[in-house]
Amino acid sequence: MSVQGSEEEDGVSIFSTLSTRKRKKGREQGKERKRKTTLAEETPLEDQGGERQRRKSSGKRKKGSRGSGDGGKEDQGAGASVPGDGGGGGGALGDGFRATGLNAWVCSVCDSLGMKKATPVQSACIPPILGGRDVVACAETGSGKTACFLLPALQMLAKDRVGVFCLVLVPARELAYQALEQLRGLGGNVMGISGVAIVGGMSVTDQCRELARKPHFVFATPGRLKDILIHDSSCAEAFKRLRMFVIDEADRILDPSFEEDLKVIGGYLPSKRQTLLFSATISKNIEVLQEVVMKDCFKWSQHDTFKTVEKINDQYLFVPEKVKEVYLFHILQKFEEMKVRSAMIFVKSCESCHVLSYLLDELDILAVALHSQQKQKKRMSSLNKFKSGVCPILVATDVASRGLDIPTVDLVINFDLPFLPREYIHRVGRTGRAGRSGRALTFVTQYTIQLLHSIESLTGRKLSNYETKEKEVLKHITRVFAARKAVRLRIEEEEEAKA
Ligand code: AMP
Repeated sequence: MSVQGSEEEDGVSIFSTLSTRKRKKGREQGKERKRKTTLAEETPLEDQGGERQRRKSSGKRKKGSRGSGDGGKEDQGAGASVPGDGGGGGGALGDGFRATGLNAWVCSVCDSLGMKKATPVQSACIPPILGGRDVVACAETGSGKTACFLLPALQMLAKDRVGVFCLVLVPARELAYQALEQLRGLGGNVMGISGVAIVGGMSVTDQCRELARKPHFVFATPGRLKDILIHDSSCAEAFKRLRMFVIDEADRILDPSFEEDLKVIGGYLPSKRQTLLFSATISKNIEVLQEVVMKDCFKWSQHDTFKTVEKINDQYLFVPEKVKEVYLFHILQKFEEMKVRSAMIFVKSCESCHVLSYLLDELDILAVALHSQQKQKKRMSSLNKFKSGVCPILVATDVASRGLDIPTVDLVINFDLPFLPREYIHRVGRTGRAGRSGRALTFVTQYTIQLLHSIESLTGRKLSNYETKEKEVLKHITRVFAARKAVRLRIEEEEEAKA
């Protein structure tokens, strides 16, 4: 399965995926049958949700109900700091979303979660989504893309309950869980709404059982979904009446490492459906897709195609390769001075991730690692420790570069530069979320200057130099080198134990 093992592959053609979709044309026929579950007999979801929300909004705001699972404190932060947000004062509850065409109850859900005003991508894309159009949207990271498709989906689903209504493909397992959490936050008051994450590393049997129940929302990584669709016909059946197909982080999902999976998945989906592509960067693949397949789609881009979030102060740090870890240690000592609550450190490979996390451990710095060679349980535990603030540093490969929404991340360190310049935009987008400010430091060595230039020409911006005093940095050299030695021994022992 290619879900996580292919973090660093490059992008090429998607034509075969496109032709699959064309071949599927006409497969879905006949009338839509209403689900014969208790849901079908219930009062319209719309009414239930509206009534609950009206009651809830008129009272105290419920804390901690935001989908990201980061608690009520963060809800207020996000709501207050979204670009262009006027603080929500003045108008009636939920007015900040009214112009998008969302129903009063959906607007009021947003309001109760601290989302006072639609972000630009939401203002632009929710109306055409509600109108049933295909959409290709390119908006900067952390700009509210998930709510942009979940909110209209919730409203449309309320009118039309047909089993699996919306399939969302994401490139990393953690993103599936994160989107599911957002659904729980946004749809928490809508009775009977169900969603499931279908990702690698977890029990296939459990996932098949959940899919057979035809949840309304499925958040999946392509590899696992493909395997299940091929091997379990009752699961495949659940997607027969799918209405909305969302590809999140589309530029990543449309690259060749996922091509085979997408082809297969496309074969199980009805051709008559709404397709939405969201990405922070638009690659050639997406441009081709929208031109060839999604002819009448609504296209929207917040900026030029490749742009980092404006509120991120990103700088580079020139360091000799030999003493990179010494510089890192120096920076990590400055967390308090830099007012950093938590930081993500990106490295080039699973092995480097493992080694660097051991090094930080030897240096008594609390850090957890996240990479694709870990068991899923370990990945989730690392992420949970980081998200909850138990551990302030996450060392990760590009498996964590996209979509993760952790509001406390004030600093992104590119310890190694990404191989693909566009990954830089995704990595630094882990900070400065939802209108907040953030900071990024990129380590550049004598071997990676060219990569820095590629990034600068992609983003159209020169990074400024982060000044350090060499003498001050190198006073840690003995300690760091001793720790490096200890790590080497630890890894040798580990390997001997495995052999
Ligand atoms: P996303 O780009 O989907 O990862 O969203 C980034 C963060 O912005 C998430 O924590 C969302 O809950 C939050 N968010 C989404 N829409 C809004 C909004 N209109 N106002 C305030 N926060 C929002």
